[in-house]
Amino acid sequence: MKRVTVFGSTGSIGQNTLDLIARAPQDYDVVALTGGRNITQLAADARRLGAQLAVTAHDDLLEDLRAALAGSGVEAAAGQAALIEAAARPADWTMSAIVGAAGLAPGMEALKQGATLALANKESLVTAGPLLMATAARHGARILPVDSEHSAIFQALVGEDIGAVERIIITASGGAFRDWPLERLAAATLAEASSHPNWDMGQRITIDSASMFNKALEVIETREFFGVAPEQIEVILHPESLVHALVGFRDGALMAHVGASDMRHAIGYALHWPERRDLPVARLDLAAIGTLNFRAPDPARYPALRLAREVMQRGGLAGAVFNAAKERALDAFIAGRIGFLDMAGVVEDVLTRMSSESGLIDAEITLDTVAHVDHLARTRADEAMQAKAG
Ligand code: NAD
Ligand code: MG
Repeated sequence: MKRVTVFGSTGSIGQNTLDLIARAPQDYDVVALTGGRNITQLAADARRLGAQLAVTAHDDLLEDLRAALAGSGVEAAAGQAALIEAAARPADWTMSAIVGAAGLAPGMEALKQGATLALANKESLVTAGPLLMATAARHGARILPVDSEHSAIFQALVGEDIGAVERIIITASGGAFRDWPLERLAAATLAEASSHPNWDMGQRITIDSASMFNKALEVIETREFFGVAPEQIEVILHPESLVHALVGFRDGALMAHVGASDMRHAIGYALHWPERRDLPVARLDLAAIGTLNFRAPDPARYPALRLAREVMQRGGLAGAVFNAAKERALDAFIAGRIGFLDMAGVVEDVLTRMSSESGLIDAEITLDTVAHVDHLARTRADEAMQAKAG
């Protein structure tokens, strides 16, 4: 029996993870499930999978969760401290699938248990990559990537020497607006940005796919996870989303991972690693697919990719600034306060200002310094947006 905990179990990655677990319930002992405001889903999953504990991130929902779990034997808890406590409960495998910087602290705590952390929460690596990797090393814990591109890279590297890697190419679908004329983008609505051509994901990452902020985060994630130089990482547009990433070796060979656009591929690989087991994902019919397309991303359309390069060049806490400013700008776009194209401007503004504040982003990376610059970056983003509005 594998003891498993799923952070963000009510979300898109979380539900796909539970789908795999529920197909072989005899193999898993579910320790904890965590969610946000969707108490009905959280409680139903905790009951059906016989979890020991269910946690909502929101203190005010504790009574609702207790009521929903009455008579089930599942413990209920709420709030930040409860999330950390859930992470501290011994588990063999923990899925980190909270969205945003909020995923960092529970993931760090889980690593301290020395077990395996399946990492969908790319924001952890972007905000505190060196800290996360060092914590894993110190506690003998393993991080397995769940982002489809990073799972693909990880798989292409099996049996290879990272020193023989020349370049890593991650693919991007281009998101909802890849074929829109540039001049239409400024007026893109929330509904338009929230629909992805190939993947069914949470709303925030779907919008980040349209703006390429998701790919920008993934470039940084690649650098932090695999330790390659920024110049070795390339992004290519691939509208079909079937080739997830390619690793280029010094002899010129490219190893590609090709598979259906179904996150259960990457989640299942991390769940069963180092074995490969049957997964309920579609098998590709290459003859029916016929053609795969690739093209270079247009830098004018996707400023987020350039910003990712700047973040990597600056290093230190620049990733935490970048991510927090992006989260805040995204909040404002979702709330209808700024336009689609304004998001990159806000992030660039905050990044430029905070990079020039002496000592700020060069401080040692700890949970406290990350929280500090994260908070500051959100405040600065609000200021930038107010200045623009006023
Ligand atoms: P989602 O919005 O569907 O789900 C997020 C989950 O986190 C929910 O359970 C929600 O309740 C919880 N949550 C949200 N804010 C929280 C907070 N402040 N504290 C505690 N819990 C909170 O998101 P998703 O699409 O499943 O993405 C989850 C993570 O996986 C993100 O980091 C995303 O970038 C990454 N990812 C997602 C996909 C995908 O296909 N959806 C693919 C690759 C990577
Ligand atoms: Mg991805």
